[in-house]
Amino acid sequence: MEHIKTKTVLSKCKYGNEWYGIDYAMNLYRGCSHGCIYCDSRSNCYRIEDFDRVRGKEHVLGILEKELRRYYDHGVVGIGAMSDTYNPMEAVYEYTRDALKLLLRYDYGVSIDTKSDLILRDLDLLKQMNERNNVIVKVTITCADDALSLIVEPNVCASSRRFEIIKELRKAGIYAGIMMNPILPYVNDDEENILAIVQKAHAADAKFIHTYMGMTLRENQRDYYYQKLNAYFPGLVERYEQRFENRYLCKSEYATELGKCFRKACKECGILYRMQDIIRDYKKDIVRMKQMSLF
Ligand code: SF4
Repeated sequence: MEHIKTKTVLSKCKYGNEWYGIDYAMNLYRGCSHGCIYCDSRSNCYRIEDFDRVRGKEHVLGILEKELRRYYDHGVVGIGAMSDTYNPMEAVYEYTRDALKLLLRYDYGVSIDTKSDLILRDLDLLKQMNERNNVIVKVTITCADDALSLIVEPNVCASSRRFEIIKELRKAGIYAGIMMNPILPYVNDDEENILAIVQKAHAADAKFIHTYMGMTLRENQRDYYYQKLNAYFPGLVERYEQRFENRYLCKSEYATELGKCFRKACKECGILYRMQDIIRDYKKDIVRMKQMSLF
């Protein structure tokens, strides 16, 4: 794997309190090889050339350790927003595993986004972190059907395996749920798909599902996505162009109805779906622990 130079690893999050209560964000790798057809991170604005090739960052753990010492406020560090941190290179280089060890040593919490079952390798560390701070894992699942998931997210495990990841995490006491984003207009925006995901999430003991019933499209990301639509879903690009033109936010035509049946199903299963409820729920233990430590 090629390595690129970097000066910083952690960045403070401006909107963390609105987005999973995250205080810092970090990406230990640049680029991602999972090949999701809708990936926003390949948009021109992020300037990641040759996006599908994963690169490491030079001295990433040394830089991270210095930054953790400097901030030292026990906040929650989000990993994997721009690149799945459990990519195939991680199985060899273990930067994520070593970064988790550092977060544990300096008593930080963690919020991980992934689609890969490689996360289960680090269950031992996540369990230890969970005893001391806030831990949340968001597994992205957009399609209940494995065959469809392997078209839209081709280079990572199928959805059924991702439900198993959640089950394993929950058995280990880790707060875990589903990022049901994006919902792709005319591809997976049907009631059958949404309700099947809620049912499977319930069976896996997922704590939450978060969704916005649509997708975003930007320069370059749109070109790549349309190429894949042409390959797998002939005729859809014309529907997109007619309905969305060059818009950034592309909501499902059925977002209102889908949202209603999604919320009803979640309520029936006791699954949280509102961001503020998810944050309050996963952070409640640490609040109690801190209160108890005052006495
Ligand atoms: S896992 Fe995330 S970063 Fe990687 S290709 Fe898929 S959407 Fe993009």
